[in-house]
Amino acid sequence: MKRDTFGVPAATASAAARTPLIELSGITRSFVNGEVVTPVLHGIDLAIYPGEFVAIVGASGSGKSTLMNILGCLDRPSGGTYRFLGEDVAGFSRDELARLRREAFGFVFQSYNLIGGASARENVEVPAVYSGMPPAERHARADQLLATLGLAERGHHRPNQLSGGQQQRVSIARALMNGGRIILADEPTGALDSKSGQDVMKLLRQLSAEGHTIILITHAREVAELAARVIEIRDGRIVADPGPHPPAGPEPDFTPHVDRTSSLSDVIEATRTALRALRANLFRAILTLLGIVIGVASVIAMLAIGDGAKQKVIDQISAMGTNLLTVRPGAPNQRGRDTTATLVIEDVRAIGDLPNVLASVPEQSASITVRYGNTDQRTSLNATSADYIVARKWDVASGTFFSADDEARYATVAVLGQTTAQALFGGADPIGQYVLVNNIPFQVVGVMTPKGATPWGQDQDDIVFVPFTTGSLRLTGQRFLRNVTVAVDDVSRIDDTQAEVSNLLLARHGMEDFQIRNMASVLDTVSETQNTLTVLLGTVAAISLVVGGIGVMNIMLVSVTERTREIGIRMATGARTRNILQQFLIEALVVSAVGGAIGVAAGLGSAAVIAAFGTPIQYSLTPVVLAFGCAFATGLIFGYLPARKAAHLDPVVALASE
Ligand code: ADP
Ligand code: MG
Repeated sequence: MKRDTFGVPAATASAAARTPLIELSGITRSFVNGEVVTPVLHGIDLAIYPGEFVAIVGASGSGKSTLMNILGCLDRPSGGTYRFLGEDVAGFSRDELARLRREAFGFVFQSYNLIGGASARENVEVPAVYSGMPPAERHARADQLLATLGLAERGHHRPNQLSGGQQQRVSIARALMNGGRIILADEPTGALDSKSGQDVMKLLRQLSAEGHTIILITHAREVAELAARVIEIRDGRIVADPGPHPPAGPEPDFTPHVDRTSSLSDVIEATRTALRALRANLFRAILTLLGIVIGVASVIAMLAIGDGAKQKVIDQISAMGTNLLTVRPGAPNQRGRDTTATLVIEDVRAIGDLPNVLASVPEQSASITVRYGNTDQRTSLNATSADYIVARKWDVASGTFFSADDEARYATVAVLGQTTAQALFGGADPIGQYVLVNNIPFQVVGVMTPKGATPWGQDQDDIVFVPFTTGSLRLTGQRFLRNVTVAVDDVSRIDDTQAEVSNLLLARHGMEDFQIRNMASVLDTVSETQNTLTVLLGTVAAISLVVGGIGVMNIMLVSVTERTREIGIRMATGARTRNILQQFLIEALVVSAVGGAIGVAAGLGSAAVIAAFGTPIQYSLTPVVLAFGCAFATGLIFGYLPARKAAHLDPVVALASE
């Protein structure tokens, strides 16, 4: 098939078309503004046939633009019927009307209506983007159209870098992008100098000659005279119409195109548009970004601090051993009575014979004075058994711990904690030296590795260990134990072992004059307390994330309001509701996702800085995923409303906005 310069099938000589392309009957349009109703069109009857060149002429205010908006399906009439190729468009949905605008119409406005932020070529491509033409084909066609219209060198110029005549030619190229079988031109020469105006009219005549249906709207009779059929409109009524003047032309084929868009290409195009919009308002986008960044970063940093604090406490408790049961004298809930004298060394041995018991060690304590040379040190005594280091998983740094044999021999040997060793000996080696414990000489056989402080701040290294037998006889003078520490083999069975210890002691003592504590349960309690802290920190941080989200909503509302006209232009060129929705939603999501990503980096970074100053930090994936997810979700939620607002704008209303 022979194709003309604009890519439309050329008219072949055949009988005049029978069906009107456009048929209006009794079309009215009134504008309602509160109580005020302004009737503008009063029953327009009009039939336009394929290939016609029609001019609608009338004074300013006579209703020409109102009529053209209805003809171009940018606006719906208040009454009457509009048939497009015999089909009543009243039943068309928003997207079906968008399809008609995309595939059948090409608009040329007096004020050009180009998208300011986009280049000439991008403007020309817009209708093809919404019809799903592949990018390469689209670029080639846009370039070719621009070249045909004498704008080959101007493809990358912004509208404000072009003259009025050039802008109008860009808008004509855009009208032709998807074929432009019906060109609707509303005062196309109104804003142009006479030379540019003549050029535009020449173009329209050429297009008419090539088979395009042209509907030209003008207030200037000399411009209208160039059309084959001049319809006169006055005060919303047609006052003169010579009747159809259809040239010989083929029956047009307006069977819907196969929708070539795919969700993926839609999203890619929407993303491109969104990025361009963000770049155009970079400073504002960065400020909004900052809100999200601060929100996400503080959530991550706060949770890292909270988790770090929790982990530190847990580590300290775990270091004491989670496989431990502590048996203390005294019945539960019986304060006031002296019940401390109930546990004896025989109990320890009996517990040691139970299954799953790794070690059962007695502990007696006392406050003592240790002397070496001229140095005195007040410290704690722990009279225990050789198994103590097994139960507590604590080892000597030098020398040895005392043995079961030392215990049996009532040996006067001692093992020092690091703090005590340091206090008495400084840097010197204590092994083999004699110290006076409450004036009784003991030989130092070992020094423990440092253990640090308990979660409640007690220095565990400020201690002297002696065999239980020796300590009980010569230092404390007591038979009864402060506690029995029981280490179990299999932690998963610790509850059973606890019950067995309890039964054993109950049988031995005939009453419940002891309490058993389980380190695992202590750990649970402590980590619960710490979780509360983490939740508190997290909540505070989450609030800032919400504030960031509101920032996104704000920028999106501004963006939509500011770009209402662009939205109108996109709708006039065939954008579907979902195209507009996607464009603005993606804009919001890009801000949130980029903000979220920077926030994650900033959060991890600040946690690292805090860690460098000695605060315990615990990194975990959950807060990162959570914070990023929240940022993304706020973008989605707070971006949705403005995007929806944009997508549901009325094309004429949007176009009319400043
Ligand atoms: P023309 O294009 O022929 O100059 P219009 O179609 O733009 O005229 O307007 C015709 C009349 O309708 C004018 O009196 C105008 O004030 C009125 N009009 C147009 N649009 C609206 C509107 N949205 N609300 C109220 N009145 C309107
Ligand atoms: Mg007008």
